[in-house]
Amino acid sequence: MQHHPVTVVTGGSRGIGAAVSARLAEDGHDVVIGYRSNAGAAEEAAAAVRAAGRRCVTVEVDTADETDVDRLFDAAAGLGPVTGLVNNAGVSGPVGTLADADAEGMRRALEVNVLGYLLCARRAVRDMKANGGGAIVNVSSAAATLGAPGEYVHYAAAKGAVDTMTVGLSKEVAGDGIRVNAVAPGVIWTEFHADPERPAKLAAGIPLGRSGQPSEIAAAVAWLLSDEASYATGTVLRVAGGR
Ligand code: NAP
Repeated sequence: MQHHPVTVVTGGSRGIGAAVSARLAEDGHDVVIGYRSNAGAAEEAAAAVRAAGRRCVTVEVDTADETDVDRLFDAAAGLGPVTGLVNNAGVSGPVGTLADADAEGMRRALEVNVLGYLLCARRAVRDMKANGGGAIVNVSSAAATLGAPGEYVHYAAAKGAVDTMTVGLSKEVAGDGIRVNAVAPGVIWTEFHADPERPAKLAAGIPLGRSGQPSEIAAAVAWLLSDEASYATGTVLRVAGGR
């Protein structure tokens, strides 16, 4: 029986993932931060976890690469049995209409946003089955149901796939004591956007009148990972300001 949950957060170095890592540390999780290339940001995020008194390791990883994903979870096991995964590492790919989107950019976005989530979830489920259970939260997007016309239809389609894998996997592993849920953020203030002013520009069209903060997504993720959400599985929790 371990004393602290050990949770892997992909894309934990910046934006929503960094906020999730900090919040989970406050809630008592040891955190494994996966990041693609920004080691400085990963170290900053790790410092926030340690400042909250929890342990943290950072691992440079491409979540779309099977070998990398195994390396990430092998490193996580050094902190103890993995009990949580936040599938969060994502990229938009090309911005504009589908007619103008390049195939390589779309392929990469689909690989990171869909295959990457599947690879991480697969390994998490293997580990959690052996460890007596756990919880997975997939960071989806409100785009999955809005469709993102004129911006990135391929990305919205990828997030639709994230919602579907959430439903399917939740049913597949419920009997193993593993819960699988998703959070679908609306427009959030991070460096995700090709136009840094996008969150400001879209505010008027959001019923709550503003774009969201990463901490507001982190709170939803933390709840779904927690025992408070013990009867929630297979759900997509929309946190999008009413959009
Ligand atoms: P962000 O600020 O651009 O941060 C992306 C994070 O993912 C970084 O930590 C980055 O690492 C990491 N990453 C990117 N590609 C990776 C890969 N192949 N392997 C491993 N790590 C990778 O993005 P964000 O806004 O926080 O978005 C996080 C999630 O929320 C994504 O799934 C996104 O689709 C979703 N989302 C965002 C919004 C929004 O408005 N921001 C809305 C809805 C959904 P480095 O630091 O090393 O680059």
